[in-house]
Amino acid sequence: MSGDGVPPRVAEHFSEPVARRLVGLRRDLHANPELSFKEEQTASRLIAALIDLGIRDAKRVANTGVVARVKGRRSGAPLVAVRGDIDALPIQEATGLPFASTAAGVMHACGHDVHASWAVGAAALLAGNPAEGDVLVVLQPAEETGKGAVAMLETGALDGVAAIFGGHVDRRFEVGQIVADEGPLAASADTFEIEVLGGGAHAARPHESHDPIVAAAAIVTALQTIVARRLNPATPGVVTIGTIQAGSASNVIPDRALLTGTVRAVEPISRTMMLDEVRAIATSIATGYGVTARVTLDMGTPPIVNPSGPTAWAREAAATVVGRDNVVPLGFLNMAGEDFAHYMERIPGCFMRIGAREPGGAVIPAHAPTFYPAEASLFVGASVLAECARVASAALA
Ligand SMILES: [Zn+2]
Ligand SMILES: [Zn+2]
Repeated sequence: MSGDGVPPRVAEHFSEPVARRLVGLRRDLHANPELSFKEEQTASRLIAALIDLGIRDAKRVANTGVVARVKGRRSGAPLVAVRGDIDALPIQEATGLPFASTAAGVMHACGHDVHASWAVGAAALLAGNPAEGDVLVVLQPAEETGKGAVAMLETGALDGVAAIFGGHVDRRFEVGQIVADEGPLAASADTFEIEVLGGGAHAARPHESHDPIVAAAAIVTALQTIVARRLNPATPGVVTIGTIQAGSASNVIPDRALLTGTVRAVEPISRTMMLDEVRAIATSIATGYGVTARVTLDMGTPPIVNPSGPTAWAREAAATVVGRDNVVPLGFLNMAGEDFAHYMERIPGCFMRIGAREPGGAVIPAHAPTFYPAEASLFVGASVLAECARVASAALA
């Protein structure tokens, strides 16, 4: 493969035609981004690329998702999965890349063009050097809306998968560096709505009703005790009230106040506790103030907590691909969500960060209109996912 920043020990596993095909796929996806659950052309391109690389067992699931099955050395050995997400964001691209988005206001600003391509690349590598058992390559739509993983799981396409691996490009790390830390990696992101209902009255005669504004104010204050007094101080968590709406005039006690907010946690047990406390505090404070609180919880993505077993496999795979010195710690806690967490609620696995900054390049945050992963990260991602599948498959067999 031509010298384009790909670590030599990674490059040697890709033939020139395969490397060209993967780069072509990535640029094609980047130039033609599609939003969550609208990835029609993307899915067609991915299936075409898989077939082109000799992987014929590829099919559409969950409308715009794709799963491909790569044969292992031994039938009956456990099934392992690798996942790449494929959707883009409603952002106007400003990278100036020669293969920049041709779709106005839509952009691969999170690097899912590379994730989709590296999953296809992993399939190609596994076809040439198979794992012990079959490997399912999961090309997932709609990660950005947090709905795609659940949609894929609901089709049953991942039934029987014994371990799953995925990763995200990250320009805080150089190409050739991989993070595969055990423990919390991404936070849960749930939202809630609290509707406080009183009776309504004249502002001069509060004794004729119960005031939802005063109750809502007390609820806002009391909710602050969840993090301060209920959460283990050694565990990160956030409760934020983002909106308050109530009232229409200064001389009216309204009949209703509405609060909305979000809860973030990095451990499933603290996530459940915090959401339970939001409900319990809101309803009991409301009762004390003579009003009613209706609490609605909207469960978003769970936290990602990499478990020890699959993480050890991923670390071994990463060390094989980039060398032990380049398996680096995350070094900071990520409070953003990632819907790979939905797989990990049901399937043991590991989620990695894959370095995507070219030497001397800037740290550009994902979701910025100038964000792009260095192309060489594609080959590192493909290699480490294929190796994760081989290591896990051998360990499980
Ligand atoms: Zn994103
Ligand atoms: Zn992303």
